[in-house]
Amino acid sequence: MIYLDYQATTPVAPEAARAMQPWIEEKFANPHSPSRWGHEASAAIEVARKQVEKAIGFKGGSVAFTGSATEAINWALKGTVEKASNGRNRIITVATEHAAVLDTCEWLAGQGVDLTVLPVQANGRLDLDLLARELDDRVLLVAVMMVNNEIGVTQPISEISEMAHEAGAIMFCDAVQAFGRFELWEGPDLVAVSAHKIHGPKGIGALWMRKGREPAPLIHGGGQEHGLRSGTLSPALCVGFGAAAKLADERCTRDFDHVQRLWKAAIHALGPGWTVNGCPDCRYHGNLNIRRKGLDGARLIADLRDVAFSLGSACASGSGRPSHVLRALGLDYRESRSSVRIGFGRYTTQGELVEACKRIAAAAVEQEKLDA
Ligand code: PLP
Repeated sequence: MIYLDYQATTPVAPEAARAMQPWIEEKFANPHSPSRWGHEASAAIEVARKQVEKAIGFKGGSVAFTGSATEAINWALKGTVEKASNGRNRIITVATEHAAVLDTCEWLAGQGVDLTVLPVQANGRLDLDLLARELDDRVLLVAVMMVNNEIGVTQPISEISEMAHEAGAIMFCDAVQAFGRFELWEGPDLVAVSAHKIHGPKGIGALWMRKGREPAPLIHGGGQEHGLRSGTLSPALCVGFGAAAKLADERCTRDFDHVQRLWKAAIHALGPGWTVNGCPDCRYHGNLNIRRKGLDGARLIADLRDVAFSLGSACASGSGRPSHVLRALGLDYRESRSSVRIGFGRYTTQGELVEACKRIAAAAVEQEKLDA
């Protein structure tokens, strides 16, 4: 199997798996218990927290572990609305956000929040003049992602954060697809990340919170994570996340350069007839979302059973719904159907990527012949 679905999830780094092993096999203590074993587990979690904070790289805040980035996003958005005491009741977000953001915002709108979902330009980027026109003194929260999971397009998060702050709003950023891939752009007050997108384990995410901007708790109970997020933490998951974050931090430039080389090799191997969806330059290049006239993307994926690539979001795949991200770029139903996403990263070799791209191109040509 050639694995080219790095936006859905990434292979666990051997270093992360090794770091987790003792916490799965032998060290079972509750990290919140006062025993010596409990203290040892708690200390390991604190090391992991520092590793994740260092990889995020922002000053003036701290990380709370969550069960996923989806939870971190729900918490950031719902908890900020709950905590608001300044009469502000408006959220501005963008049409290409992940479902975890859009669906939470829609839920909040159902609770009385005034929601504005801004469109994007044909290249997937938010028009900052449009944002400037929308920002007013009713805006509580601006929620914009750093790297889009379906098309890889980036948003200018530092500029957007500055604009949000000037308007007196809080800036939330879903940095799930940016974290560990390049140095995060500064500015946001709340940042959601996920371990399994950076070669760590599934089932753990984190919310970075600027001091003073902590949202009201979403999960109540034993008061863990400074009373902000209750529930017994898993030392194994935290340690695995920490090890993956440390590795991503150390290898950041090397991995980034590798991905730049892979992108060029993939484009070359695919040959003519393909169009890149979204801005080809202002993007993370480990995400190659492409379309081809007349192609049936789902059929292409089914035809190439031993190459793992996808139609777009893993969450939306299988729903039969055309991608809301591609629709937001202005693509029609046929163009969305004829799009596929090839995602690669640290452990992808140029040889396997080139082979897979050649097979994808050949299968697409075969489809054209059969359909002619
Ligand atoms: N946000 C983005 C941009 C994502 O790509 C994903 C995962 O696909 C999530 C949020 C949700 O992350 P998790 O799987 O940790 O809930």
